[in-house]
Amino acid sequence: MTAPLTDLERLCVHTITTKSWDIETAARKFSAAGVKGITVWRDAYANRDIKATGQMLRDAGLTIVSSCRGGFFPGATAAERQTAIDDNRRAIEEAHELGSPLVVLVCGAVPGQPLAQSRQQILDGIAAVLPDCEATGVKLGIEPLHPMYADSRSAVNTLGQANDMCEQLKSPLVGVAADVYHLWWDPQLETEIARCGDIGALFSFHVCDWRTPTLDLLNDRGLMGEGCINIRQIRSWVEAAGFHGFNEVEVFSNRLWAMDQDDYLELIIKAYRQHV
Ligand code: ZN
Repeated sequence: MTAPLTDLERLCVHTITTKSWDIETAARKFSAAGVKGITVWRDAYANRDIKATGQMLRDAGLTIVSSCRGGFFPGATAAERQTAIDDNRRAIEEAHELGSPLVVLVCGAVPGQPLAQSRQQILDGIAAVLPDCEATGVKLGIEPLHPMYADSRSAVNTLGQANDMCEQLKSPLVGVAADVYHLWWDPQLETEIARCGDIGALFSFHVCDWRTPTLDLLNDRGLMGEGCINIRQIRSWVEAAGFHGFNEVEVFSNRLWAMDQDDYLELIIKAYRQHV
């Protein structure tokens, strides 16, 4: 049995988790609480000097784990797909300026378009921006999303599909962001995590929980321990696959955003120790 995490050395919190804090506040509060890593949503550095923001985070003692997000490559027209490619090139450049080693991809889908076609457009889109990754060293993490998002947010819905894409793209700069919220239900999960490790593609590990009932498809995630996901078991699989990076707390929750965010950060740390 994998042991609980007694220290916070591998705890990363996404800025979206404490959405009401601006990035300066998040940096100060995370650092004071002993959080070691931060994943930054692009909104969080909007209208700021990106390089200076990255330096501010490092000065606060935080490791920048990734930035979110790129993707949304599929489009009904070539012009739409090109717009997406341009936006992803910007996301990679911004990550480079920030000092973020990885851009997480919510890959996209177009309602009514066959999923296989969207997946091909995702592959083509990633291939189109790979030169930007090679020029900057910034990596891309394909994040498979739960199938409830297959209509409009991602045609990549299992870790197996994400692994297939990594194998097709054959770049050390393209891997996977594995999020327990999206993947916990998959009977192939343990096998595919091992495969992801074998191909050197396991770049990130995101944690939260699945609430019953889930009241909102986007913004009702649970804090670890509030739902039915065996997070520690999944962590044992990713560690067995060779992953020893940050455990990233990524919680979209109207309920938790509404509470006092200082109290919430305390809860996050408690939940991390008890359930991750
Ligand atoms: Zn995630």
